Amino acid sequence: MTAVVDQTCSVFARVSGDDLRVPLVQGGTTTYANFDYAASAPALAQVTDRVQQLLPYYASVHRGAGYASRISTECYEAARGSVTRFLDAADDQVVVFTRNTTDSLNLLAACVPGDTVVLDIEHHANFLPWTRHGRRVVRAAATVGETIRQLIAELCSRPAALLAVTGASNVTGEVLPLERLATIAHQCGARILVDAAQLAPHRRISLRDTGIDYLAFSGHKLYAPFGAGVLVGRRDWLDAAEPYLAGGGAVREVGVTRTEWAPAPQRHEAGSPNVLGAAALAAACDALCAIDPESLATHEHLLADRLRTGLSAIPGVNLLRIWDDSPDSVGIVAFTLDGFAPGQVAAYLSAEHGIGIRDGRFCAHPLLARLGLDGALRASIGLGTSSADVDRLIEAIATLVANGASWNYACTDGLWNPTPETRPFTSTNAADGAAPCVIG
Ligand code: PLP
Repeated sequence: MTAVVDQTCSVFARVSGDDLRVPLVQGGTTTYANFDYAASAPALAQVTDRVQQLLPYYASVHRGAGYASRISTECYEAARGSVTRFLDAADDQVVVFTRNTTDSLNLLAACVPGDTVVLDIEHHANFLPWTRHGRRVVRAAATVGETIRQLIAELCSRPAALLAVTGASNVTGEVLPLERLATIAHQCGARILVDAAQLAPHRRISLRDTGIDYLAFSGHKLYAPFGAGVLVGRRDWLDAAEPYLAGGGAVREVGVTRTEWAPAPQRHEAGSPNVLGAAALAAACDALCAIDPESLATHEHLLADRLRTGLSAIPGVNLLRIWDDSPDSVGIVAFTLDGFAPGQVAAYLSAEHGIGIRDGRFCAHPLLARLGLDGALRASIGLGTSSADVDRLIEAIATLVANGASWNYACTDGLWNPTPETRPFTSTNAADGAAPCVIG
């Protein structure tokens, strides 16, 4: 099935902020073009609706007999069902609510009974937590095929409990063949964890079909910016481990000298649960389940290909890749521009064109070092992105290369800003020139 890429708006869904007006440094306003979905995605309409519906019933979870408490508890527990369906989780896999992917991976790192093998292309969240728990790093090769051969060699060389890999690179969007990696890990006596922070918003994943043992993602990258994430995975390690946090809700019985901890998921969810976060994340899972995955992938491929083609036609643009043979990539395009610092380009796009993209090292320092870079630009697309947005970004970069910027920019402490800065920084009515409530 094919998706038609609409010229002006998304074909799939309304997201909050899709008609946001932002001020320009030279005066006037424009509609914001958000190319930073990979950092945090705006809320889907279904997500904000679910949160609005639940707010009047917002009350303690698992801790009250009042009607609102009972409704909040029901919603919180039902949210596990939405995540289970979204990921097609197996019967022995539990859904633990966390704050975000980083939290989920730190939680799992404390449960793994042995070494963890990781690649050097990971986001820090899927790299640093394993340091304290027998981390063995494999350097990614120039091809996916060779990288997998090196992973096999490492996994065969001595026992490892876990292979921890990203589903999609947060820098280049390239994906790994997860089903194959799961088979390899299992053949070598290890389990597999997938950091799906970037994959889950773009591709449907079946834990059952792929054999993935553990998976983590963040609500705020999945169109549910309400502070919840998940770790989904096999119960035995989670039940055997020390509770992630010690506190109320994680226990069955507490005596003065002895504590009987609850099994997962409650074991790792001490403290008052984030019911709005869980409900929002569940609403996003339900909304994504309702979208045909092939249409979504086609839509993103069309937009990302349009962006890559447009950018590569501009002199001085260098698109970044890790591998020559990655099987797929999600809607993330990383690049550098000869003669311009990444931060300068990002500041120009924001100030003169109302376009938001990310610059820097993307919490993936080892990967950037491998690519021989100390910074780059990253444009990431999502459900609210249109082809008109893509064309705006390409034109803005082409204008910069052809004519230079129309404003001055200066770098202070590593941060590029227009000089003078004329835009008010306020969360309300910024584009209307209202009295600024200056942030910072
Ligand atoms: N993993 C990947 C691949 C990411 O892109 C990110 C965030 O950008 C994370 C993990 C960490 O996510 P969070 O900051 O929501 O914990």
